[in-house]
Amino acid sequence: MKINGTLINYYFHCKRQCYLCGNRLNLEDNSEDVAIGKVLHESKYTGENTEVKIDNISLDKITDRYVTEMKKSDADIEAAKMQLLYYLKVLKEKGIEREGKLIFLEKNKNQKIDIIKLDEKNLNLLKSCEEEISKLLENDIVPPIEKTKGCKKCAYYEYCYL
Ligand code: SF4
Repeated sequence: MKINGTLINYYFHCKRQCYLCGNRLNLEDNSEDVAIGKVLHESKYTGENTEVKIDNISLDKITDRYVTEMKKSDADIEAAKMQLLYYLKVLKEKGIEREGKLIFLEKNKNQKIDIIKLDEKNLNLLKSCEEEISKLLENDIVPPIEKTKGCKKCAYYEYCYL
């Protein structure tokens, strides 16, 4: 499976989640949490330049300055940042340079926004991360459960715990 933004996000959140998704054990459609996330996405942005698909990435919004990624909570900021950095990297390889804007939607009254930039350090981190994901997905053994706060909201919760 070609690496995409979701796999990058999962890799930083939970290696097992990354492995299961990357090997196409797709339980996402049954997850209430994923469904809520999709509704939030659809209801927040209906203007132009939204939901842009380029190769294997799908951008929530792109303007002259920013690529915007929306998340329904700030439960795993690092994973969300790496996903957005990956989008910036894919665009840069196509000659499109942007900054990243990360918006956490659940904080409706006090919406949290992070601005991120793709620098040399992040590029190197992404490169090694992509290599590690490729190796991880080829493995015959499913990585162990990583007990995290996010487990109960994960699409694989039943698979892991029940
Ligand atoms: S339920 Fe927890 S351990 Fe299992 S894949 Fe999801 S995040 Fe990882």
